[in-house]
Amino acid sequence: MNEEVKPEKIRCDACPVMCYIADGKSGACDRYANHDGALVRLDPLTIIHGTSQKLVPFMKDGEPSDWDGDIVKGERPFVTAVGAGTTYPDYKPAPFIVSQEVDGVDMVTIVTEGIFSYCGVKVKIDTDRHIGHERDVVWVKGEPIGHVMTSEYGSKMLSLGGVEHLTGGTKKEGRVTCDALLRLCNREAVEVGIGEGDHLTTVVIEAGKPPIINGAPERLMRVGCGSATIGMFAKQWQGHADDVVVVDDHITGVLSEHEAGKQLDVPPTGIKLLGRRSTPGRYFQVAQPGTGWGGTDIDDPLKILGPFNPKVAWEGLRLLMVSTTGEQFAYYELDAELSPQPLPMPETLVKPTELIAENCEPSTCSVLFMGGAGGSLRAGVTENPVRLTKSVKESLTHVSCGGAESYVWPGGGITVMVDVLDMPTGSFGYVPTPALVAPIEFSLRVSDYQTLGGHMDEIRSIASTKEEGMRTVNPNAHGHDPMSRDNYRWSKNESTK
Ligand code: SF4
Repeated sequence: MNEEVKPEKIRCDACPVMCYIADGKSGACDRYANHDGALVRLDPLTIIHGTSQKLVPFMKDGEPSDWDGDIVKGERPFVTAVGAGTTYPDYKPAPFIVSQEVDGVDMVTIVTEGIFSYCGVKVKIDTDRHIGHERDVVWVKGEPIGHVMTSEYGSKMLSLGGVEHLTGGTKKEGRVTCDALLRLCNREAVEVGIGEGDHLTTVVIEAGKPPIINGAPERLMRVGCGSATIGMFAKQWQGHADDVVVVDDHITGVLSEHEAGKQLDVPPTGIKLLGRRSTPGRYFQVAQPGTGWGGTDIDDPLKILGPFNPKVAWEGLRLLMVSTTGEQFAYYELDAELSPQPLPMPETLVKPTELIAENCEPSTCSVLFMGGAGGSLRAGVTENPVRLTKSVKESLTHVSCGGAESYVWPGGGITVMVDVLDMPTGSFGYVPTPALVAPIEFSLRVSDYQTLGGHMDEIRSIASTKEEGMRTVNPNAHGHDPMSRDNYRWSKNESTK
């Protein structure tokens, strides 16, 4: 086999693909290259400059700054795994194991770009609009890459990626899934199709940006469900309307029947809502889900009303119908036949309706990377990988991703979840196996590292990293400091050194 390989090519062993790379060329993932016969990592090591010092956003363009590596001036740096390289094929220690003294404690950070075959993203889309039924398939370029999960309060949720799509389907499915995950994690826009046939919806997802649903950018996240909206704004409507209906796909509220209306002595109006009555003034399933009023499929709100009760209703009854974001509204008065007739909205109801919209937050897409730290990653930290897992569970080791705070799931293994907007730009890469490459750092006391069987001979000082060629970024808006003693159990019950 080797005879066929041109002599100028070198072999990259940073992932199972094992590319042969010619001089001046890069490998299949564009992360490693052959420079004059030497294998080099193309992206610079990323260091967060001045953790616990400043609360300013990451540099947008990711250009290297002129930090000179000086760690003596109180501007404590943190070496992230972005640009660090991997531990493949597993027996190698992590590429950077760096020590520094933090508030009198000798700390060490083990830094690796993990190859995550088991990973995906959870997407939260702030919208009332129906984007798909629970369990509907999410498509990109005709390939299934995930599905719709349980809706949350005011938001739709998607689960994308995962090992079944990356490795369990066709080669194309794996490639398309990996590419979509990579772009989402690196904060790029990805258009997905949800469902199929007559209920196919297109959504453009981009971390930190409003979703674009069927070509229309979403503006607002609802202030609450229809019932909650009734409760919140009942007083504003009092005296200006005889009844108010807040149209919502999940829980439509009716002021005159709702407990809020009762407590404010709003009299019955004889109104009849279609749909399933849950409790007084709260109705389920008044219409089908859709992209109309309050996430229903209706454009005419009167479609959800039955005839008014003639024994209770009266001519001239004032009725406001409004959606949960206040973006859609209509005003009616009953005629002599007790039929609602549309009229211009009275001035006294304009402000209360605007108040609903004012109380809505901007609609946005949140993208959370989720992955499991596998054997290779953990072996890069210690020869006894299970000890690392235990150390994380015992809060002796703190896990961060690109310096950002990560949530470590309970139970076995080290399964982390992190908001991609908290991480430096360009944190993610891929390998064509296919799998995502994501930064992960483990920080702990040097003494604890020794106890768990760490690669002690590989520890180097943080000052030595300045020779590597690096980019420096500022801490993210949350200013998470992986080295803060608050992250560690020992800070709570002992004085340390
Ligand atoms: S795809 Fe894998 S083997 Fe090829 S250059 Fe990238 S890390 Fe190296």
